[in-house]
Amino acid sequence: MYDLTNEKTVKQILARHGIVLSKARGQNFLINPSVCPRMAQVCGATKADGVLEIGPGVGVLTAELAKVAGKVVSVEIDKGLPPVLAETLADFDNVTVIEGDILKTDVKRLLDEHFAGMKVAVCANLPYYITTDILMMLLESGLPFASITVMVQKEFANRLCAPVGSRESGAVTVGAAYRAKCEKMFTVSAGSFLPPPKVDSTVMRLTPYETPPVPVTDEGWFFKVVKAGFNQRRKTLTNALQAGLGITKDRTAAVLAEMGLPATARVEQLDLAQLAALANGLRL
Ligand code: SAM
Repeated sequence: MYDLTNEKTVKQILARHGIVLSKARGQNFLINPSVCPRMAQVCGATKADGVLEIGPGVGVLTAELAKVAGKVVSVEIDKGLPPVLAETLADFDNVTVIEGDILKTDVKRLLDEHFAGMKVAVCANLPYYITTDILMMLLESGLPFASITVMVQKEFANRLCAPVGSRESGAVTVGAAYRAKCEKMFTVSAGSFLPPPKVDSTVMRLTPYETPPVPVTDEGWFFKVVKAGFNQRRKTLTNALQAGLGITKDRTAAVLAEMGLPATARVEQLDLAQLAALANGLRL
């Protein structure tokens, strides 16, 4: 069994497979031995459960997940890594590696095919360049994950946990607040990675609510409205929604007025209940 937290060992495996780590793919691999067992514990999976991992790299987190979970499915975009994983995870018979881009993967189908009848948690050290896209996709999907445990850059964690209706918030803040209880679990220093990134990271756990905290009549539409608003966050909602969704300014202004808000309101000034009411009002 390889020690995948040993920098020299990891470098040797990568060199033997002719792999050069790619910054563009967010390939900062964990080499701090205490982090992956903690993440596996935080994700809460047991031998009765499945885990979906995004971006296994050389398998350092995958191995810890395989120890606690009944089954692990890991989706990796880098074609060079599945042969490495076949070697590093050879001792585990409960891991399936799928080569592919998680953003182009039909996750519902993947869950049906690999985890029928099981509770499924997501656990991943996310590639930082698409952290938002991946989390939005998971949150928008509405799939019944038991938990979503992700390592993200510290600044991103702050944005994710920011109050909806504050300047730090974004569409992903709203998605997270609507869908899940968000907790910062622990911080991981930049030196825990090979190569070290410029900033520290935070492990977050999102626990999806059984019932969302605010009533939304059409979730797909709600996410569209929120994303269109934040795409042009410095503009008024009337302008942003006209540009993004073709809704007339008068229509948005009328719904805002019914809610007691001025036509000059910007998306980051609305709290979660107001964003839900806006989307519901515009859907009618
Ligand atoms: N889990 C490993 C660890 O903790 O050391 C690697 C984490 S590294 C931050 C991110 C991983 O995600 C890399 O292996 C990278 O190749 C992979 N990746 C990047 N973009 C991806 C995508 N769109 N779909 C699936 N995997 C992706």
